[in-house]
Amino acid sequence: MISRVGALLLVFVVWPLAAAGPDFRLQQIGKGVWAAIVNDAGLAGGNAGFVIGDDGVAVIDTFQDPRPARALLSEIRKLTPLPVRFVVNTHYHLDHVNGNDVFAAAGATIVAHRNVRAWMRTENIKMLDPPVTPEKKARVQSLPLPSLVYDSHVDLYLGSRRINVRYYPGHTGGDSVVSVPDAQVVFCGDMLWKQHVPNLIDASTGAWVESLDAMQKDYGASTWVPGHGDVANGQDVLVFRRYLADLRAGVRREQGAGKSGAALADALMPGLRSSYGKWGFFNDYAKVGIEQTEQELLGKKRFPPISSER
Ligand SMILES: [Zn+2]
Repeated sequence: MISRVGALLLVFVVWPLAAAGPDFRLQQIGKGVWAAIVNDAGLAGGNAGFVIGDDGVAVIDTFQDPRPARALLSEIRKLTPLPVRFVVNTHYHLDHVNGNDVFAAAGATIVAHRNVRAWMRTENIKMLDPPVTPEKKARVQSLPLPSLVYDSHVDLYLGSRRINVRYYPGHTGGDSVVSVPDAQVVFCGDMLWKQHVPNLIDASTGAWVESLDAMQKDYGASTWVPGHGDVANGQDVLVFRRYLADLRAGVRREQGAGKSGAALADALMPGLRSSYGKWGFFNDYAKVGIEQTEQELLGKKRFPPISSER
């Protein structure tokens, strides 16, 4: 019989926690399944994660910079000698793909929705922080592209371990949600933000709300890894859905009252601030998100052009 202390030690051995430096921390969320939760003030940008299977590893997203990507690879190396066989880029934004070269050099096949391949080296120019130097542009224009693309869904196998990659519209029009059915874990990329105001630069918020409803149905009782913020649960998905729905309803209401532009944003900001002002990125994305949603609801928003390669 194992003593209580012994049992706790055993749990600790089975579920190790690893410190991974200033840019991100690793959190084990299932057998062989790890979330890499970023520090917003560090270099990593967007959350990542990885799944260790029977014969290899799949990595979900590669951060905003090759330095934390190399740190992630070395954390994986501490846990398993198995090769990194796949990287899934959940979408094209730079904070999720700018470590691709680290994993491509390690032999991984990069997998993504078809539009990610079309947009990674072009649309990402607009994601660069100013000043946009020739060096930064050249880096974007040489990002390793996905070499395996899909349209609606694709399954990856790490030996007997299945990983489902599914397209959901809303955040960019090329977003993948990656689930590990045997661990009831789902990596949402930027289809889910936990207590962080989302970047709506490419968003179709109406489709996004519908996708969140579909995801709740599809992944119900899972552990949810958002693209930004801590590991989440089903309640967090509802809270995030409410942000998008509140924003849409508010923009519609003010448009109905004849407001537009700065006046419309000024009318909505106090309400958003009182409900969501403590969220990360509020000052970065709340106001511009109102403007982007106004354009969307007017039918005037510019979206990245859908890939024509078939
Ligand atoms: Zn992101």
